[in-house]
Amino acid sequence: MFDVASRSAILTFPEGPWATVQTPLASRTKMRPVKLVAALLLALWVPLCAAAPTDYFAQRIPRPATVAPPGRVLPQHSFFFGTPAYWPQGLHWRYNSADAPGQLGGNESATVQLIADAAAKWTAVCGVRIIYDGETSTVPRTVVNGSPDGVSVVGWQDPGFGVQAATNVWSDVAANGDSVLIDSDVVLSPGTVTTPALLASVITHEWGHAIGLGHSPVANTLMSGPPDTAYSSLTDLTPDDVQGCRCLYGLPAATQEGFICSLPSKLDFGSVTVGTNSTPTQIIVTNDGTASLTMGSLQMQGGDFSFSSSGCAFGMTLAPGASCSFTIVASPTVAEFRQAEAIINTSGGPYRIPLSAQGIPAPPPTLNFEGAWWNAPADSESGWGLTLAHQDDVVFATWFTYDASHRAMWLSMTAFRNGTSNTFNGLLYRATGPSLATEPFDPTQVQRDQVGTGSLAFGNTDNGSFTYTVNGIAQSKSITRLAFGPLPTCTFSSPTNPVLSTNYQGNWWEASGTESGWGIYFTHQGDTIFVSWFTYDVDGSPMWLSATAARTANGDYHGDIVRTTGPPFSAMPFPSQDVTRTTIGALTLTFANGNNASFAYSVMIGTPPSSISRTKTLTRLVFRPPGTLCE
Ligand SMILES: [Zn+2]
Repeated sequence: MFDVASRSAILTFPEGPWATVQTPLASRTKMRPVKLVAALLLALWVPLCAAAPTDYFAQRIPRPATVAPPGRVLPQHSFFFGTPAYWPQGLHWRYNSADAPGQLGGNESATVQLIADAAAKWTAVCGVRIIYDGETSTVPRTVVNGSPDGVSVVGWQDPGFGVQAATNVWSDVAANGDSVLIDSDVVLSPGTVTTPALLASVITHEWGHAIGLGHSPVANTLMSGPPDTAYSSLTDLTPDDVQGCRCLYGLPAATQEGFICSLPSKLDFGSVTVGTNSTPTQIIVTNDGTASLTMGSLQMQGGDFSFSSSGCAFGMTLAPGASCSFTIVASPTVAEFRQAEAIINTSGGPYRIPLSAQGIPAPPPTLNFEGAWWNAPADSESGWGLTLAHQDDVVFATWFTYDASHRAMWLSMTAFRNGTSNTFNGLLYRATGPSLATEPFDPTQVQRDQVGTGSLAFGNTDNGSFTYTVNGIAQSKSITRLAFGPLPTCTFSSPTNPVLSTNYQGNWWEASGTESGWGIYFTHQGDTIFVSWFTYDVDGSPMWLSATAARTANGDYHGDIVRTTGPPFSAMPFPSQDVTRTTIGALTLTFANGNNASFAYSVMIGTPPSSISRTKTLTRLVFRPPGTLCE
């Protein structure tokens, strides 16, 4: 019938020594006596066992695991070998009374009856057959030429490791491809299992192993145990134990019922960010029984998880072979390991699925400070300002102000985020370079001199402070966003392709940096662009010009170019009434798309003033890809 001799496998449960490190369930009133231990280690398996994790170690026989053998379901319970293995003709066992202690040794028939009664708890609820074949002198765990002797024996031996019992099970592959059990031996410690009560408390659980069940990840079942759960103190089967046996052996003879074997034994959602939902996991409910099954309620015991959809309506009847499905999502509320239990109530009893997820902290909100800023409160020091190009953890700031002789002057700073704060620190530079009249502009002629340090600290997305020390003068200003229209929302890693962007806010420069040293900032709100142009005067000093450019009928932006003078940056308070504005020309911005623009300007400049007209090709300045886009 079966090709059993050539290949066999043993799985032992080394659960005893580790049971003591399991946290007992709060409801437990006593530690369950340790029932099993790794004991029989064939030489062949020693290296495997030595390297195995503390609980389960299996030697699986190669076999397609995802294809259900004809006529059997592919259950999802926890089985001894992972791949379900079963006794096709029932488990025939014998009792070896040698070394039985005390009254258990003195009344053999009562001891056999007690063991058989425990076996009957299983045969009463599922299709497994456990047949007593009488006493034997065969020693449990006898191995012949490296193979099990094929005689399943319950007997008395010290399992070692200071524990009270051990079950060893061997499996092989049958001719039809099924994984089948060929030998199950239970050894009981004569030193500790000394009374009928103690024997009763361990043997029903051992029978579960002997017929092929592993430890259940569901808590408080007869087969609960490491690694997922703590041992229970039960001696009788719970619905979960019954289900495990039925998924392996089907129903008892002459019983017609519906039952489910399609559920996962447990569900781990892995790492999920706090405040977000995991990908929904679909659970399929299939009636693997022989009679119809009626769906009851779906219950969630514990927060952090929910049913996100259900096709298994209350009261729905599933005929044998019929299915419905629902989905579960994990939504951890805290950054901890979270557990819960989904309960699927049916006319055949409750089905429990342990759920788990590791909540991971949400990243702190990343504020973006891209835009033009001026003194706070708004309009309190009109005449000077800052433009901030904020990309990733870097702010490129351009400060538009005035020098001691009231001439417009700009300073720049590349400021880096301080840790994870919303404070950015950098060095302030004053640059000199070729005047805006020079063509072509030679970037190698630009000279940058450090004149101080600066710090930008933000309390929120719209308010902050600008602290600086320039030429020994230390001051601090409260700043707020410059708003003259609807403020756009600026984001890092915007899903929008910059070419497709219709808001042009940001720093731009000539043809991807071929004229590094001067630039222009567009503050774009509604149909208006406030242009801040940082360039150089005819004497090479850092000069800035500005324009309020309005959208024209054909989509271009047009405005007057204004030259400004004002009180020195160090004036406290800053007397805005002393700022003068002179129109010295005009500009037109023509945007081919969100990342390419033509900048045409005509200005009167120099002494005596002469007219300069140029057209520049601009692209966005990206110094921390993918930069920032506003919309
Ligand atoms: Zn166990």
